[in-house]
Amino acid sequence: MANLQYFQFPYMSDNYGVLIHSDSTGETAAIDAGDGTALLNALAEKGWQLTDLFVTHHHADHVAGLAEVKTTTSCKVTGPKLHSSIDGLDRQVAEGDTFQFAGCDVQVLHTPGHTADMLNYYLPQEGVVFTGDTLFALGCGRLFEGDANTMWNSLNKLMALPPSTTVYCSHEYTEANAKFAMTVDPNNSALQQRYEQIKQRRAEGKATVPSTLAEELATNPFLRADDQAIRQHLGMESATDAEVFAEIRTRKDNF
Ligand SMILES: [Zn+2]
Repeated sequence: MANLQYFQFPYMSDNYGVLIHSDSTGETAAIDAGDGTALLNALAEKGWQLTDLFVTHHHADHVAGLAEVKTTTSCKVTGPKLHSSIDGLDRQVAEGDTFQFAGCDVQVLHTPGHTADMLNYYLPQEGVVFTGDTLFALGCGRLFEGDANTMWNSLNKLMALPPSTTVYCSHEYTEANAKFAMTVDPNNSALQQRYEQIKQRRAEGKATVPSTLAEELATNPFLRADDQAIRQHLGMESATDAEVFAEIRTRKDNF
């Protein structure tokens, strides 16, 4: 059990897909299928056979390749039960559900805000979470189908995971997110250091995903609505955490 392998690959302009593989059982899962060709190429590169596909949400850059991948591999497709408009799901899951992949628990977190159907997949024995377009490295998803309160509650579910958890998100947005984060949390030395590392990694063409939850808790302004320095900077010392989060989200939308 455990000791799964992870293979992250880019597709479209700034998306990441991930393959999860067990050498002991031979099973392989993918997170989302926004680009069927890119996913099938990644499988071929690794020599892995796809057995499972875990879908986070209905946006085209996450499901456009689903039909092609399912037809080609006969994988079992797991996705949202609530608010689902996704074709081809074999198993529909919701908040609190746990299922097995390669002998590991996969816990389902419903994290609406970006979309109403958003699911995140958490593997507690592995210490890995796939946050889709809910939590990004130094950012969070835009609010297309939910309000700030909804997203804040969703982020709180992720913040409750162990800080050592590895966070795979679906986009390479980190450098732009870091630039924005510096405008609301300019005196955070951990953020300053991370920004420098990110600029260097991007200059070298390297991914900044995955990160750890501990890094996000220390530097991601969207998880730091209770931070006194940020509150002071925004002039919101007596606001609720959700109100501070909403203000940061609005500022990012207009950044
Ligand atoms: Zn999306």
